[in-house]
Amino acid sequence: MIIVMNAKSTDAQIEAVVKKLTDKGVNHNISRGVERTVIGAIGDVSRLDPEILMALPGVENVVRVGKPYKIVSRQSQSENTVIDIGGVKIGGNTVQVIGGPCSVETQAQMDESAKGVFEAGCRLMRGGAFKPRTSPYTFQGVGVEGLEMFKKAAAQYNLPIVTELMDVRMLDTFLEYDVDVIQIGTRNMQNFDLLKEVGRTHKPVILKRGMSATISEWLMAAEYIAAGGNHNIIFCERGVRSFETYYRNMLDVTAIPVLKKETHLPVIIDPSHAGGKAWMVPSLSRAAVAAGADGLLIEMHPNPCEAWCDADQGLNPAELKTLMGELRGIANVLGRDL
Ligand code: PEP
Ligand code: MN
Repeated sequence: MIIVMNAKSTDAQIEAVVKKLTDKGVNHNISRGVERTVIGAIGDVSRLDPEILMALPGVENVVRVGKPYKIVSRQSQSENTVIDIGGVKIGGNTVQVIGGPCSVETQAQMDESAKGVFEAGCRLMRGGAFKPRTSPYTFQGVGVEGLEMFKKAAAQYNLPIVTELMDVRMLDTFLEYDVDVIQIGTRNMQNFDLLKEVGRTHKPVILKRGMSATISEWLMAAEYIAAGGNHNIIFCERGVRSFETYYRNMLDVTAIPVLKKETHLPVIIDPSHAGGKAWMVPSLSRAAVAAGADGLLIEMHPNPCEAWCDADQGLNPAELKTLMGELRGIANVLGRDL
């Protein structure tokens, strides 16, 4: 960390900054220029709060040299992390597509969905038993019973399951049902207490990007999970709020190379909640794989028009299968499998 003093700073002000560093157990190096003095903070600066330093008299600017996120940063680990989900690896050479309905509805719907997901060639299945809906008067998810139906349907095809956890009080139930991947939705990306609790487990976590979160905030949210000891984190970009109203959210494809640079953890894309329309899903999926995503989270329903939630963005089983073929071609060009 570098502390830049303003041109009129006094020796007493410089000494006060140095004292602050020493009190925090941090060494320093003072560089006196013709116009101004720069103080380098050396050592473990993780507990130094730049805002407190900024507030000291005579300080003009405080510049962080290292990253505020440690464990999830590429600086802490140069090679990619590959997460093993019941034998299915994500973050390696194979691009993984997680398919399934927005929400768990009935046993028959889940059985048909699992069949469609498996026959399309996906190795993981999604479905929400607890739904974060904008209106309290719309379908809220079938609840715990949904976990039961989901497990039963997915087990027929050996598909690990991905499902959203909204309430920390349900975590033990998720662990009892042994869900394979806990999804943290966009609305909970900065629910820090929830992040801390999933950080205490060893379950793989899909951390969706908050709809208005910066990449730095997203990385820090992942750091909350990692700091608890759980390093099995998968980032999922699902579109951000923008001025555009034509589609549901704006898919930030740029986030893929940025995250691949900043973190060693896998990065996947949810084209369904980005576009919000089924017809946009193939284009966005192709763009994501071409840009280097490690996987996709795609909504598929046996009969999208009848879906209890997000009906207009779900692919049908045949559409998912066709898309899988196209994506495989793109992955292969890049030297990856799908
Ligand atoms: C979902 O995946 O079902 C979902 C609600 O997504 P998001 O949190 O991205 O809106
Ligand atoms: Mn949905």
